[in-house]
Amino acid sequence: MKYKPADRIQDLQYFGEFGGVNPSISDSSTYTFLSAKTMFDTFEGNAEGCYLYSRHSSPSNLYLGEALAAMEGTETANVSASGMGAITSVLLQLCKAGDHIVCSRTVYGGTYAFLKNFAPKFGIQTTFVDITKPLCVNKAVQPNTKVIYCESVSNPLLEVADLEALSHIKKVHHLKLVVDNTFSPLSISPSKLGADVVIHSLTKFINGSSDTVGGVVCGTKDFINELRNVNDGAAMLLGPTMDSFRAASILKNLRTLHIRMKQHSHNAMFLAHKFQEDGITTVYPGLKSHAGHETFRKMMNESYGFGGMLSIDVGSLEKANELMELMQEKNLGYLAVSLGFYKTLFSAPGTSTSSEIPEEEQIEMGLSDGLIRFSIGLDNDIARTYEMMKECMIKVGVLDTELA
Ligand SMILES: *Cc1c(COP(=O)(O)O)cnc(C)c1O
Repeated sequence: MKYKPADRIQDLQYFGEFGGVNPSISDSSTYTFLSAKTMFDTFEGNAEGCYLYSRHSSPSNLYLGEALAAMEGTETANVSASGMGAITSVLLQLCKAGDHIVCSRTVYGGTYAFLKNFAPKFGIQTTFVDITKPLCVNKAVQPNTKVIYCESVSNPLLEVADLEALSHIKKVHHLKLVVDNTFSPLSISPSKLGADVVIHSLTKFINGSSDTVGGVVCGTKDFINELRNVNDGAAMLLGPTMDSFRAASILKNLRTLHIRMKQHSHNAMFLAHKFQEDGITTVYPGLKSHAGHETFRKMMNESYGFGGMLSIDVGSLEKANELMELMQEKNLGYLAVSLGFYKTLFSAPGTSTSSEIPEEEQIEMGLSDGLIRFSIGLDNDIARTYEMMKECMIKVGVLDTELA
């Protein structure tokens, strides 16, 4: 049977302790025991179904983790307080002083800053590569390399990583392939393509309501247990723990993710085609003109589409700012970072989410000044939205009236 991540979420059945259709929220940081012996066993991790302290685990967090593991097709998962909390604990768990990471050069600004500026303080070095060129990735591997790190669809340039090719490289060199799948939940299932660890910032599409930050690490039981180990587990000792109330609320939002992703993808595809027809430089993996289109197509779970992220280049930062301000004034979306909201969000990555990347490196990776990153919303009538956006583009001189 074809792999259907949304069906695996559908098939989960959780009840509250009084038969509620939603699981009860665990409103406790600590748990009582009838016997001291069980407390000891729980601390050692040997008492199935018992809880000790909510930084270790809590029922609400486990429910959400298991739902996300079902979605990604991994054995289990560990939720965290943020995407960065998930990313940093995975990398610090997998690497020690003297180790080396091969990382895509177009990753989330926070991930880039962590690997470039923070991890070297602990003797962990990173080589940044063009992830769309598996040969370059292979060449960057050193004897001390432990991890290949990438995003399935990268922020903000929407480059698509060939996860099967990367998986082949990591097998040859006995490395771990860690994939941040934040931009393409449901559409791409990295673990089915060979990733060892799949990470999400739940802050974005998965929660989808821009009311919280959150993260998850999906992987094998062995690896998640290592992360949670009380003696040397990064997720345990660095303490990026999600609160139970947030876990419960994200779980409820997860249940509509498939419907939302289909609408985000449908709307983004519509706009991408229109913008491209209008002669605007448009980056969207669903377009045949996109360098990663075929790679995405070959990896994707078709029914969810190519995702809700698209970028356009309007030539200069001034024009980009003018257009974004006008679109916000016309209530077409918000000038805001982040993604996955019901409303369209837009920002200029060079001066916001990717500002951690030095200017000369931004230029080298094709991150131009006039780039606007859109997270396309759930608009009911996207044709109407397009007409209104076009008016804004004409008004600020991004499109000329002749063309329109
Ligand atoms: C937002 C984001 C992160 C960081 O997640 P937080 O929840 O903000 O910590 C990591 N990776 C990608 C691709 C993101 O978009």
